[in-house]
Amino acid sequence: MILDCAIIGGGPAGLTAGLYTTRGGLENVTMFEKGMPGGQITSSSEIENYPGVTGEVTGMEFMMPWQEQCQRFGLKHEMVEVTRVSKDGDIFKVHKGDGSVTEAHSVIIGTGSSPRRAGFKGEDELFGKGVSTCATCDGFFYKGKEVAVIGGGDTALEEALYLAKICSKVYVIHRRDTFRSAPNTVERLKNTENIELILNSVPDEVYGDNMGVTGIRIKNNNGELRDLEVPGVFTFVGNDVNNQALIQEDGSFLCDMNEQGEVIVDISMRTSVKGLYATGDMRIAAPKQVVSAAGDGSVAALQAISYVDELLN
Ligand code: FAD
Ligand code: NAP
Repeated sequence: MILDCAIIGGGPAGLTAGLYTTRGGLENVTMFEKGMPGGQITSSSEIENYPGVTGEVTGMEFMMPWQEQCQRFGLKHEMVEVTRVSKDGDIFKVHKGDGSVTEAHSVIIGTGSSPRRAGFKGEDELFGKGVSTCATCDGFFYKGKEVAVIGGGDTALEEALYLAKICSKVYVIHRRDTFRSAPNTVERLKNTENIELILNSVPDEVYGDNMGVTGIRIKNNNGELRDLEVPGVFTFVGNDVNNQALIQEDGSFLCDMNEQGEVIVDISMRTSVKGLYATGDMRIAAPKQVVSAAGDGSVAALQAISYVDELLN
């Protein structure tokens, strides 16, 4: 059987594409997601800027009904990693981690992005042993203890505020003296008693013993070193686009990309390849928000419905 549409990735973009394609009349639609559906927002402690959501809700709680809603309209889900998407004539081939291949008339890809490593000494060796990129997952381990947070964007500051409710003290280490984060978040950070801002500084080395992290050494712009005795270090230094599934056997990309590895799309989420749509955090000029990823998913789905209709009729 050839799918009407294969959706790659089950974050806000993929799930919305799933809702709109199935509800819009496509018969055979499968979403391929390598983990639990929901995407990166499920690692967030709070979402407060999705229209209509006014109560305190974690990213996980927020995303739970999305999949249930899609399934009601017939979206199928395969928990598998897509290793490559290729195109042969009018047919897309979805190559999967288990070695099997699924064919599809159209593809909507929304594989999002993943946390970046900051690149300081000890980070990789102690990752998972005190170095983390997820406060909701690992914050509880440091209840009543001191932790360090690296970064000055929305994620770093919001997660520092979350950690400040659990931990005795949170050091926020940022390499500049101004932040990328929204001004009201910066204000909240500055007004939180158990957060200490360490600006114009970068991690030099995280160190530990066989039990895990015992401290971090930071270096300021003047080259001065300071040691913080913390058992937990959270890095929130941005994300890399997950574009690996678009890489072909000869190393080229299936469709046009920009220098940052983001997929080039038009305002209808169409890529340079007919029938292939890219959505959410992985596309050019993405606002990197749940609401915009969901919006992309709906736009791409409407395009895919017309494309498949024209192709088959
Ligand atoms: P993602 O959410 O990244 O989903 C992509 C999915 O694809 C993942 O589930 C992944 O497992 C899957 N996948 C990847 N590669 C493959 C593959 N090869 N095969 C199969 N599956 C694959 N935005 C807001 O609007 N408000 C917030 O408050 C907010 N807070 C955030 C807090 C944190 C800690 C983080 C990290 C992000 C936050 N964001 C927030 C940003 C928001 O989460 C993203 O913009 C949004 O999730 C992007 O959706 P997406 O569907 O494009 O990608
Ligand atoms: P980001 O905005 O790219 O910020 C990354 C931060 O890490 C920056 O402050 C950067 O410093 C710093 N950094 C980068 N590399 C570093 C290194 N090697 N060592 C030390 N510091 C380093 O990433 P993000 O905060 O994850 O946000 C990603 C996107 O998601 C953004 O568009 C953001 O708005 C969005 N998001 C939105 C919300 C929300 O709306 N509530 C919440 C979370 C995320 P510089 O500032 O000096 O570059």
